[in-house]
This record gives sequence, C-alpha cells and structure tokens, in this order.
Amino acid sequence: MTLITGIQKYSIHDGDGIRTTVFFKGCPLNCIWCHNPETQSYQRELLSDKEACINCGKCKAACPFDSCQSCGTCVDVCPLNLREIAGEEYTIPNLLKELKKDEMFYEESGGGVTLSGGEVLAQDMDYIETLMMRLSRIGIPANIDTCGYVPYENIQRILPFTDTFLYDVKLVNQEKHKKYIGKDNQLILENLIRLSQDGGKLHIRIPVIKEVNGSKEDLQEIIDFLTNNNILVQRIHLLPYHNTGSGKYEKLGKQYQGKAFTPPSPEEMENFKKLFINAGFHNTKIGG
Ligand code: SF4
Ligand code: SF4
Repeated sequence: MTLITGIQKYSIHDGDGIRTTVFFKGCPLNCIWCHNPETQSYQRELLSDKEACINCGKCKAACPFDSCQSCGTCVDVCPLNLREIAGEEYTIPNLLKELKKDEMFYEESGGGVTLSGGEVLAQDMDYIETLMMRLSRIGIPANIDTCGYVPYENIQRILPFTDTFLYDVKLVNQEKHKKYIGKDNQLILENLIRLSQDGGKLHIRIPVIKEVNGSKEDLQEIIDFLTNNNILVQRIHLLPYHNTGSGKYEKLGKQYQGKAFTPPSPEEMENFKKLFINAGFHNTKIGG
C-alpha cells in the first residue's frame, strides 16, 4: 500500500521553478534530525497535539478500539482540531488530477512535480513507475528526491521519466553514517556513482549539521568522493540544519533525538560553500 502524507503546492525548494511536492510515507533510513518523522513509518499514524488538549474526552468516547489503530474516527470529533492522520491512499488517476491543477504554474516558472518523502523509491515501484510514466506522457517534468538507500533497479525503472534527481549525501564516513543515520552508506554511494554513469541529472543535497557533518573535514570527504568518482553534478545545495519538524515527534508520541544539534554559523556556511567552489563545483548554493 502506497501512502502519502502530504501534497505541498507552490514549493520553490525542490528543484527548478514552482513545484508541487508529494511526500510518500515510509523510509529505510532513520536520520536522527529527520524533519518529517510522520514519513518514517510505512503505516498510517495518528498525530495528536497533547499540549493543547483540554481533556474533553470526545476522542476517547468516539474511539472504537482499546489501543489506537490509526482509524481516524476521532479526528473529526475533536473540537480543537488537534488530531490528524498521516497517510492517505491515492489512486494514480486521483493523484494526477491533483497534480495537474497547477500545470499553468509549472509551465510559467519552469517547474513541475517533485516526488519526495519519506523515500519515494522505497515504495511500491509499480505505482511509482506508472505515476512517473504518466507525468512524462502529459509533459509535466518530475523530480525524484531520494536518500539513495534503495535497490539500484528501482532507480533504473524511473530514470527514463525523471527530470532531476535531488540526491541526499550526508556523510562519507561510514562510522558516523551508521551512528547518525542508522545504516551503512555503501549502497547510497554506489548508487550515486551508477546513476551518474547512467546519465541521471543530479542535484546533490547536503544537510549540514554542526555536530554531525559541519566540519571542513567531513565536507572535504564528500568533495573527494564526488571528484574521485567523476560524479557529474549539476548543482550542490548546502542545507543548514533547522529543527522545524521537532514538534511533530511529540504529536507522534516519539522523542526527538536531535535536540542538541545546531546549524553552522552563516560564516561557516559561506566557508563550506567556498570549499566546494574551489574544488570546481561552481554551482554550489546555500539553501534549497
Ligand atoms: S485514530 Fe482511531 S483508533 Fe486511534 S485513537 Fe483515534 S479513533 Fe481510536
Ligand atoms: S477531543 Fe481533542 S481536546 Fe478533546 S480530549 Fe481529544 S484531543 Fe483533547
């Protein structure tokens, strides 16, 4: 079952122009700082704002189960709208209908659709391939925002229909990658090499967190990896850390592990940008 947690319109940080970004639910990685924790699990989930709750008891009275099954019954009874379900099913025709609504903006701005998540390439690939094929047929450019931790076959399936890959590279250092992201990075880096060799148009996105990868050494390792493997990069985005998603953890009943993380200073970010530019990555930007 392919679930979607949100469709964000007028997005300007997920590739060129004005875009509509679709967030798919479920991700094989577990980044400590994840901004979208509601996209980590592949299952439907209830988010509820416990801080604002006035304990009126209406949700409890409406609930048909002893423990939460994320059925959504309680969402409509809350007088303060404090409850929501993350994870909605869309048929491909219904999703396309939604995405086509902003066709005019895509055309005027050179934008399109971006499939994101969660991890879009860790979903039902028959669904994703059909969606990409149909977007391509109707002339809507589609980007894929990926963490790269997927079988390469999944990337190959959508490559002919993909305009740009927004490919996340967080760390080259294996130990640190395992510590902060929960998985080895070998597959991610191997897939990046193959995708570049197969002609994928690449925007590399690097979230920069002072305590994780916010040092000259960590970023130099990424530069060396890209250079030594002749990765053809159209653009590099250095994304300073922000903690805007931390409130969602509480709503999901989870604990945010990234409380101690901080963004590098603007001066440090400028210096990191220079590092990339001096290494020949002239199209390096700070931000999305
Ligand atoms: S989502 Fe359904 S199962 Fe969960 S608390 Fe609400 S009514 Fe109960
Ligand atoms: S219905 Fe809303 S306000 Fe009432 S107890 Fe449930 S979450 Fe709290």
